[in-house]
Amino acid sequence: MNTLPVTQPVIEITYLVASVLFILSLKWMSSPSTARHGVRAGEIGMLLAIAGTLLQHGIVDYKWIAIALVLGTCIGIPLGLVQMTAVPQRTALSHAFGAFCVTLVGTAEFYLRSPDISRFTMAVLSAEVILGSLTFTGSLMAAGKLQEILPQRPLTYKGQNLVNLLFLAVAVAGAGYLVLHPGARQLFPMMVGVSLLFGVLMIVPIGGADMPTVISLLNSYAGLSAAAMGFVLDSKLLIIAGALDGSSGFILSVIMSKAMNRSFGNVLFGAFGQVQAAAAAGQEAKTVRSATAEEAAAILAAANKVVIIPGYGMAVAQAQHKVRELYDALSKRGVDVRFAIHPVAGRMPGHMNVLLAEADIPYDRLVEMDDINGEFPQTDVALVIGANDVTNPAARTDSSSPIFGMPILDVDKARTVMVIKRGMSPGFAGIDNPLYYLGKTLMLFGDAKSFVNDIVHQLAGGGGH
Ligand code: NDP
Repeated sequence: MNTLPVTQPVIEITYLVASVLFILSLKWMSSPSTARHGVRAGEIGMLLAIAGTLLQHGIVDYKWIAIALVLGTCIGIPLGLVQMTAVPQRTALSHAFGAFCVTLVGTAEFYLRSPDISRFTMAVLSAEVILGSLTFTGSLMAAGKLQEILPQRPLTYKGQNLVNLLFLAVAVAGAGYLVLHPGARQLFPMMVGVSLLFGVLMIVPIGGADMPTVISLLNSYAGLSAAAMGFVLDSKLLIIAGALDGSSGFILSVIMSKAMNRSFGNVLFGAFGQVQAAAAAGQEAKTVRSATAEEAAAILAAANKVVIIPGYGMAVAQAQHKVRELYDALSKRGVDVRFAIHPVAGRMPGHMNVLLAEADIPYDRLVEMDDINGEFPQTDVALVIGANDVTNPAARTDSSSPIFGMPILDVDKARTVMVIKRGMSPGFAGIDNPLYYLGKTLMLFGDAKSFVNDIVHQLAGGGGH
């Protein structure tokens, strides 16, 4: 089969439109009201990028490409259908595939061109392969930890960070030697092998809890390696798309670390998650007050202002549609209901926005943490649904708490607090929550979906202002 007779300018224009769509995609995804357009723009951009690439004159045969397209589609469709709570590990797998592909391309380019490689090309090719390899194994490890195929807890030993850095230094030194002597073909597999190993070692000491942030950082590495590949292949599209991916992944990791009041260093080298068992075991036997769905419904029906705080438990229970029914029932009674969104509620950025949007809850009812916090003192009921850490007042008051300094939703300042969760288990950070022992707090023990359902039934059965 021969390539289609398309001129280079047509391909360049296709790439240009694809690049613009990628930029618009990121811009639109920054708000829930335009996020759907953002996803579409990204999809169309990627389709154009693939189409443009398939029109390249260098392609001599479409047979293998067609096989790869069919295979990729067969793997991609089920990956796209996973549960929302499994999206972080699914994303990690996508990064692993992308990074593996970048590494293969870099390796092929090296062996095709060596020893006639300029120093600049060899330098970017090495960066491409090192970043690609460590992202490949690192992302597989991250996906394994999140899927609980691998142990979630950080595995550490003395001097570990130094040993890890040594591996990276060896890979970089290999790259340095190859830049000066691109004919040293036997060194290349060593550089790739050490980078692959570094990817594994880099993730071993990080707890499963920090994986979403790490995945976002690996996203950034995958983007940078793709940008480096763009320099090697002289593809402006790859440079632009890789740079967008690299910078947006990095910005997202910074936002996530900030929202957890953690430094990057602490996420990567802090072995967070080890204290969990000890902290949970140290709980004293304190008393809490619990209430039934009937009592909760009566309190909600009598309120003027209700703020709902969704969290990870709402996502696990898939309670968002029931929450929508609760929102409808209360709104119908004239209760002002809004949703307080913490930037790291759930297990991935935007987790709550996506779930609430899925249930068609109006965007203008969703209020970001900084905007809602000042309103809790005037709130009659703060209804926490499966959220824990993001409401923990210890982050404000207890300097010995592992989450001290993390910005939280000031739920404890509302007149009445009601918390739906199954028991007294801690959340992601593995620590106790003093909110539950306050005199104004009522615990509503049960699964989020069925408890909200019970409240909705109670509201339908009577009561009100
Ligand atoms: P948490 O993980 O703190 O708490 C979730 C709570 O939900 C648990 O205490 C659990 O209690 C409860 N729960 C679990 N299943 C159900 C169910 N079926 N029905 C009702 N309740 C349930 O969640 P938050 O959203 O408050 O906080 C997110 C945490 O994740 C933060 O610590 C954040 O730092 C971290 N994180 C978030 C990231 C993000 O991007 N969003 C990324 C990385 C980390 P019980 O078992 O008793 O029911």
